[in-house]
Amino acid sequence: MKIGILKETQKSEKRVSISPNITKQLIEKGFEFIVEEDAGVLSSFKNSEYEAAGATIAKRDEVFKECDVLIKINPFDTEDLKLVNKGQILMSQLYHKSNSELIEAIAAKGATAFSMDAMPRITRAQDMDVLSSQNNLAGYKAVIKGAYEMTKIFPLMMTAAGTITPSRVLIYGIGVAGLQAIATAKRLGAVVEATDIRTETKEQAESLGAKFISVDNEGEESEGGYAKEASEDYARRQKEAVNTSLFKADLVITTAMVPGRKAPVLITEDQVNQMKNGAVIIDLAAAQGGNCELSKINETVVQNGVKVIGTTISPESVSTNASDLFAKNMYNFIVHLTENNTFKWELEDEITDGTLIVHEGKIRKN
Ligand code: NAD
Repeated sequence: MKIGILKETQKSEKRVSISPNITKQLIEKGFEFIVEEDAGVLSSFKNSEYEAAGATIAKRDEVFKECDVLIKINPFDTEDLKLVNKGQILMSQLYHKSNSELIEAIAAKGATAFSMDAMPRITRAQDMDVLSSQNNLAGYKAVIKGAYEMTKIFPLMMTAAGTITPSRVLIYGIGVAGLQAIATAKRLGAVVEATDIRTETKEQAESLGAKFISVDNEGEESEGGYAKEASEDYARRQKEAVNTSLFKADLVITTAMVPGRKAPVLITEDQVNQMKNGAVIIDLAAAQGGNCELSKINETVVQNGVKVIGTTISPESVSTNASDLFAKNMYNFIVHLTENNTFKWELEDEITDGTLIVHEGKIRKN
């Protein structure tokens, strides 16, 4: 079976889906690899490293023409689909619940598509979970970005010239990104507080040294480990519980998402106007509409002396580590789906069933 690694075309993307190291491991298992020229360059992987691993380097058209399986990180787009052939197997993140046109276009091509972001949140699938591996890095990077943008340091510092009090960091959403953000901010010496609609996150936040801000979540549901959309009443209770900390915070990191929906607005313009001069908000949910009402994707908005930085959750700025982890997830996924280099098509398996969105031109999940 020939696997093609495509160069990412999305603006500002620096990652690649499979590293030379994982290419070598899959070639040792009997797969063949064709890598688009310069696919790994922005993750510091040279064409020559893929060649040394046993892969062939080719132009984009050739990769589409020759391969049985095509792998990307970001969703296949209309330009890619022009080159896709009947019977090809596509693997990438597809965000199928909010991308119905793309799913229909893939089906119309008679292709098959797996979506990596649809991986079920079960123990068995943890090592294939690209959302976790990538969001973990995003949580780390959000704190580093915040530290860079702040005009204060994180730790308590007692010097002959006086004492510097530690910075206060507030984190909304204690999922994978939020937990890593707590751990990173604590390591840098900040006083950290965090909140989440799911009360089971209290213990996790506290185990990393953060103070959990409890909000009465009576009547709010979660499903499969994910939050569901919060009610207006919850949003009001959350503001009451969190505002004192928000107005004292030096850095706020927001990571709250609801699968398949727009991100919830947790910080309004009115709240930003009551925050400390010089505070920074890093909004990791900006691509999904933002947790702060003022967030603009890939822009910094300054309001009342507060910097609101809308960033994507994609950890492209640490592309070498992010690509390494994404590749390891792909390795585990491909090994899970195949036997003797052939797909097993175990449609009753929870992992196959959850991720297989289009099968031979038929849409399985909307
Ligand atoms: P996510 O990116 O979907 O959301 C981030 C956090 O925002 C979540 O904790 C969510 O509860 C929270 N949130 C949503 N709406 C909110 C609101 N209105 N106010 C406050 N917080 C809000 O979540 P994630 O990082 O993907 O993790 C979801 C869960 O899945 C976690 O419990 C995680 O540990 C678990 N998980 C399990 C596996 C596995 O078993 N394979 C893998 C990864 C994650």
